[in-house]
Amino acid sequence: MYNYFRAGSVKPEGWLLEQLKIQKDGLSGNLDKIWPDIRDSAWIGGDKEGWERVPYWLDGFIPLAYLLGDKDMICRADKYIKSIIERQKSDGWICPCPDNARNEYDVWAYFLIGKVLAVYVDFTDDASVLNSLYRSMKCLYNEIKNEGIKLFNWGKFRWFECMIPLQFLYDRYKEEWIRELGKAVREQGVNFFDYIDDWRKPLNCWTYETHIVNLCMMFKYEAVSAKLFGEKYENKAEALWQELDKYNGTAFGGFTGDECLAGVANNRGTELCSVVELMYSCELLYAITRNPVWADRLEKLAFNALPATISDDMWTHQYVQMVNQIACIRFPGKSYFGTNNSEAHIFGLEPHFGCCTANHNQGWPKLAMFSFLKSENGIHIAALLPSTLKTEVNGVPVEVRIETEYPFRHSAKITVESKEKVKFPLTVRIPSWVKSLRINGADHKPDDCCEIERIWSGKYSFTFDFTDIPHFQSRPHNLKTAQYGPIIFSLPVLTEYKKYEYLKDGVERKFPYCDYELIPKSDWRYGFIDEDLIPCYNAGDSIPFSSQKPRITLKAYMKKVEWDFEEGYNTVAARKPLSDNSACEAEQIELYPYGCAKLRMTEMPIVK
Ligand SMILES: [Zn+2]
Repeated sequence: MYNYFRAGSVKPEGWLLEQLKIQKDGLSGNLDKIWPDIRDSAWIGGDKEGWERVPYWLDGFIPLAYLLGDKDMICRADKYIKSIIERQKSDGWICPCPDNARNEYDVWAYFLIGKVLAVYVDFTDDASVLNSLYRSMKCLYNEIKNEGIKLFNWGKFRWFECMIPLQFLYDRYKEEWIRELGKAVREQGVNFFDYIDDWRKPLNCWTYETHIVNLCMMFKYEAVSAKLFGEKYENKAEALWQELDKYNGTAFGGFTGDECLAGVANNRGTELCSVVELMYSCELLYAITRNPVWADRLEKLAFNALPATISDDMWTHQYVQMVNQIACIRFPGKSYFGTNNSEAHIFGLEPHFGCCTANHNQGWPKLAMFSFLKSENGIHIAALLPSTLKTEVNGVPVEVRIETEYPFRHSAKITVESKEKVKFPLTVRIPSWVKSLRINGADHKPDDCCEIERIWSGKYSFTFDFTDIPHFQSRPHNLKTAQYGPIIFSLPVLTEYKKYEYLKDGVERKFPYCDYELIPKSDWRYGFIDEDLIPCYNAGDSIPFSSQKPRITLKAYMKKVEWDFEEGYNTVAARKPLSDNSACEAEQIELYPYGCAKLRMTEMPIVK
């Protein structure tokens, strides 16, 4: 098992820092100023939403504020936390609901605020907030033990989220009631293996058991429980993953869900909340189980699905993204999505529903906290993200720095600095796609994990160069997706942005938090001639996953093919072309990273 370093030990740099600054200047960094459900929430004494939205937002905003060391943001985070704990009841109950209505309050938000208080204490060491977290969980323990409250709806399907604040408390107090509460919660929660039959074809109706966000959160249930209860881990997550991937997998390594499971169709939607929750599940699964497959899956989501569905300025997002997404225009009639409305795929403030508006912001900050993990007696680099770790090993201050433009380039320089002599192993996770690896210019076998154990003293640097060959991954209907390293590539469609500013239910959409429809202005009907894909490295601009100037592209030879729309929808590409044959001339086309191409074709045929 790996553990996280104390929050604040890892500082983002390079492109990751640029990305977090964009987030700070975007919706996530300003949501408390403009969005009534955060600004006037019942959590802080207002009359708006008093359930998941404020905790969702704080769960990303707190790490963002502290990772950037931004005084104004830290001050605003403090104000929310202070206001929430001021309202805590004398018996420890912490959520905003009348005392006589506790049994009607869905305790999913109770688990969530517990996670928020834990991350806050992790960054600040604030004893009064730690005490508040302790009292809130003790109250939940009493309420569940005395059958004052029972789990239902979201709480029943997201029961394992409670293990995260409980683990945080157990690490500090080692009191047995903490584990008892965890077991009582598990007892009342669902067993996901009961629902596997429902995952095999889209039901096209709304159920908790096929709800994409519930399922993306679910993967960590056994790992977080096994850790808290000291039980043997049996890798149930992999069996669940295989089932979901077979029937609902996407080219970007997540699942369809608009907002319940939608099959393997490349033109159905995937909710943004499911992307960030799946990333978080992968992070905890890798840390707890050390199985590298979870970190590979994490990288694929983080470098593709996350940037794809949020605008360059991070002010607007989609509720659902599509793999082959040729237009983001409101459907004039019936929605194409299973249970999401006809605007779920436009970019905006809260298209379809506002959960992602508050919840999307955990994605980048939690990834930034994941780059370095603590091994039994040393330091582990879990992901090659530009960042610096400052910590102590055996009482000796040590600094480790990763300088890299990965995933846009396939190399990294790692520098370890220590003023005194100290011996420990430094391990580096090597992504599974790496075909060849050179460390300081010498060839090495690209195993899952590379270990360097030595007596560190002074400054020591080593360079990692790793290679991949651009290739296709196979998709349903005999279609292909180009992949190079952890990035998948799409044919970009020239895009016109049509802006909408308006007021709906008292909530203002106004630039930069307005809505946009994305209208296609170039042809999208293409197929590959062959697998000859040539990487091009570009300077890019100040936006890491820029939709205008990507830092990496792939040149491909392609031909136009006949490809129709999905029946009844003239803004949705059919799932496959009419034919794989083409009499057209070959054209050289520059493919963009999936996360950069807001309108795109990602699954395409090989033409004859
Ligand atoms: Zn959502």
